[in-house]
Amino acid sequence: MKLNDAQIDDLTGKVFRTIVNNGKDGILQSELWKELALTSRDGSRVAIRLEKRSLIRREKMLENGRWTYKLFPVKLPVDTFSIEKAPCLTCPVEHMCSLEGSYSPVTCGQIEEWLVMSLDILNHKKAEAEQQPSQT
Ligand code: SF4
Repeated sequence: MKLNDAQIDDLTGKVFRTIVNNGKDGILQSELWKELALTSRDGSRVAIRLEKRSLIRREKMLENGRWTYKLFPVKLPVDTFSIEKAPCLTCPVEHMCSLEGSYSPVTCGQIEEWLVMSLDILNHKKAEAEQQPSQT
């Protein structure tokens, strides 16, 4: 069954979270489709969306004699909280957003706010960790 656009929207956050959870080592798209029970067609649609939003990059590679893609997060968010708040995941103008377009991650104020918020969380966590007594 082919997913509709709303279902693809719902999946976008899930796919992004899974890619981020694999960290900088990335994940083969075939493994990701299997983990989330997606067809390669639907999975590819979501991956291409995330790539267009500059949230992931896809690297073509040969795996067991077949060409496939490995998916990597472009930036690793501080934590799950900040991933869920990523504005691109629910952005109404995402379909018009590209690096060269009138809506672009390069000039997007929402992305900037999100990064500032993520950094605030990181700094807060660092400060908390520094206040903890040493465990040694
Ligand atoms: S306009 Fe901003 S929030 Fe929307 S998809 Fe583009 S970068 Fe993301």
